[in-house]
Amino acid sequence: MKLLSSIFRITFSFLFMILLVSSCGSEEDVEINEEMAPYFETFKEEAAKRGIIFDNSIEKIEGFLEFLPKESNLGVCKSYTDGSSEIIIDKPYWRVSTNLQREHIMFHELGHCFLNLGHDDSKDDNGDCVSIMASTIGGGDCLTNYNQFNRDSLITELFSK
Ligand SMILES: [Zn+2]
Repeated sequence: MKLLSSIFRITFSFLFMILLVSSCGSEEDVEINEEMAPYFETFKEEAAKRGIIFDNSIEKIEGFLEFLPKESNLGVCKSYTDGSSEIIIDKPYWRVSTNLQREHIMFHELGHCFLNLGHDDSKDDNGDCVSIMASTIGGGDCLTNYNQFNRDSLITELFSK
């Protein structure tokens, strides 16, 4: 009886270990700040509309809000050799940003992290940036003008790069 119960115990702990191991690789392992999570979702939806699959259980792009140094960018994508990466957005900037501004910087960083894009400071006749991948927000070669009217075409431009 004692032997049987210890066999059970070993079997159960073994099963438990299998469960733990198999949970690796799920989306839950990818840590994303809860305020940033909806923008990952929108990005996934916008990608899907354009025939691109964004699966963050594969991409493993994490998201954090932190205090970035004043002289640095408002957002950054850090990529690691294991294929994972993380997006860090400046917390004070995030606090004062509108929904569209948050989406813009999130899509810009996902442009780096997921689409492997560099910067593009091209502008139209008005001087407005023609790409979400412009190098600086509100003070570069072109003017950031991301609004409800041009949002859709700018997202299309991003995914067609
Ligand atoms: Zn950038």
